[in-house]
Amino acid sequence: MEFGTELQQALLSPWGLGLLGLCIGSFLNVVVHRLPLMLEQQWRAESAELLGIENKDEGAPLSLSRPRSRCPHCGHQIRWFENIPLVSWLALRARCSACKAPISARYPLVELFTGVLLAAVGWRFGAAPTTLLWCGFAATLVALAAIDWDTTLLPDSLTLPLLWAGLIAATLGWTLPLPTALWGAVAGYLSLWSVYWLFKLTTGKEGMGRGDFKLLAAMGAWLGWQMLLPILLGASIIGAIVGIAMKLSANLREGRYVPFGPFLAGSGVVVMLAGQQRVLGWIGWN
Ligand SMILES: [Zn+2]
Repeated sequence: MEFGTELQQALLSPWGLGLLGLCIGSFLNVVVHRLPLMLEQQWRAESAELLGIENKDEGAPLSLSRPRSRCPHCGHQIRWFENIPLVSWLALRARCSACKAPISARYPLVELFTGVLLAAVGWRFGAAPTTLLWCGFAATLVALAAIDWDTTLLPDSLTLPLLWAGLIAATLGWTLPLPTALWGAVAGYLSLWSVYWLFKLTTGKEGMGRGDFKLLAAMGAWLGWQMLLPILLGASIIGAIVGIAMKLSANLREGRYVPFGPFLAGSGVVVMLAGQQRVLGWIGWN
């Protein structure tokens, strides 16, 4: 894994990765918006087939690349120069060029956040090709956090490839020693699986989704079993604070719960950027 050194240094510098992050953030906006709709469409088709009834979905199936993005208000097809990360939103003054309907600030914020995050990954891991793996890990966590926040779903089509990628990267010697990654995945899955069943058997309720097990398993595969407890601690504390704050401000709709995935993902990102030694120091283990 070596290519032209100066070009490599420039592309993998925090600035290079920050620019890459803006573009990836733009793509993540599409994933976060469409993946839940694609899953819903797929579930409807499967249920209809199972029940032997007619599927009322019309038109071509939705995918990440088709149809082209449109303004949800007027259907105006978004042209390439209206789709430049950050710049277009500012140039359009946060409004659709055709109907002037406001465009949510969330789109540029996801782009900016992903840009800053990948720049931080570049700063943390240096200009090595394996830094791109960590960029992929971080970007997938952003998508999962946003989808879970919106829909309380953590799609298998993101968590499972993330888990496999972590195990394969460790096997190829690019990230962690393989046993650290493998036991991280196993313990990550089993720890939340046991909390889930303990909670369910004692209260009869489901305290978290099954996607949370797979997400923590994936983070174990990337960050190692030693980081599971710090990740869980961080996610629980921040999750509890946000949950209480939302209850107090009555922002939480009746019968809905605060998803755990965004806090797991956030905690994982902090652990990745801080590094194992520093994190173990925080919790007094070294
Ligand atoms: Zn419009």
